[in-house]
Amino acid sequence: MTPRVWAAVALAVLVLGAATVALLRVPRRRLPTLAADRRAALDSLPVEAVARGKAFHAALRPPGYAARALSLIAVLLLGLTPLGARIVGAVGGHWAVRAVLGGLAVVFLAGLVTLPLAAWREVILRRYGLSTQSWGGWLVDVLKGYAVGAVLGAVALLGFYAIARYAPGWWWAWGALGAAALTVLLSFVFPVLVEPIFNKFTPMAPGPLRDELLALAERDRVPVKDVLVADASRRTRAVNAYVSGLGPTRRIVVYDTLLERADPAEVTSVVAHELGHARDGDVVTGTVLGALGAASAVILVYLLGHWTALLDLAGVTGVGEPRSIGLLLALATLAGLVAGPAQNALSRRIEARADAHALALTDDPTTFEAMEARLSTVNLADPDPPRLEHLLFASHPATVERMAAARAYARGERAAR
Ligand SMILES: [Zn+2]
Repeated sequence: MTPRVWAAVALAVLVLGAATVALLRVPRRRLPTLAADRRAALDSLPVEAVARGKAFHAALRPPGYAARALSLIAVLLLGLTPLGARIVGAVGGHWAVRAVLGGLAVVFLAGLVTLPLAAWREVILRRYGLSTQSWGGWLVDVLKGYAVGAVLGAVALLGFYAIARYAPGWWWAWGALGAAALTVLLSFVFPVLVEPIFNKFTPMAPGPLRDELLALAERDRVPVKDVLVADASRRTRAVNAYVSGLGPTRRIVVYDTLLERADPAEVTSVVAHELGHARDGDVVTGTVLGALGAASAVILVYLLGHWTALLDLAGVTGVGEPRSIGLLLALATLAGLVAGPAQNALSRRIEARADAHALALTDDPTTFEAMEARLSTVNLADPDPPRLEHLLFASHPATVERMAAARAYARGERAAR
């Protein structure tokens, strides 16, 4: 068999593997919520809060869709015309210099076109009082993001083009392994090395709430060393909590804004949801799916690299030469467009399972519902978003669905696990 046939076989195995992991680790279905419950939940929310959430999201729509469209046009121009290849070609010198500097130039150019729209978005966040940042702080965040992207991008670009150069027939295998390894490594390293660049984390102050949260984790048999508080208030008024990292780097992070604006019982409810993620190994599932997806993407790029018409459009002789970065970026963006809604559908089921876990662990659907209402109001969520937008872009069930799930729990209905 030729390397190409092996690549096709490997791709099929990886895709089947990912489908199996998704099938085994993501709930096949979630308990459907009743329309009557959703309506009652919506009616229980303050009318002004619902209107404000809807108005906020309507205001965000133009910059949001414009950014999606513009970045797509930019990567298609850079990747499906010789523009990207010309930019890399203009960087002289050693191939590694061309790969890293030329590659980063193309990647940043694609990102730069949406920067004005990101600023427009920030203007809206301020108008609605959600952002607490100064323009200086906002710009520092943007620059920090570029710096992190440059470091990660340089590693990926150098690794990819070095392998493609030195293992011409089989680079797809090494590239796939490397992409998977990098995904797993990032999952460990991100919370420890990257998150502190953007926020300060301090252990939660000793007191009844901290004791309660640690006791909750113990009752749930989830090993938690500490609960950290992030200084999110320097940037936003939004409230949140999350769990990130794997094994020894796993931590539960609570926004300081959540501690300020929610009752302790509601904070407990949020953390119970996060414990659900830890308990069900959702970070592991996400990492494994991400690694399989990254490996598949590398092999797909290798196979597409034999399509001469595509190479001609981009003005390159092969995907293994540094001038191909524009084409790779365009392919990755198109793959992301297709994969995004599927990813979100899986995410919504995982989130619904974590909600069910929180309800079972706290056995307090009233507080859970109050917490969802608070989250929605404070974060200016649209509690009952347009259906198509929800299906395409939402990573979590809608607020009214989550509140309806609490109502079903209160009646004694339980989701099958
Ligand atoms: Zn969650």
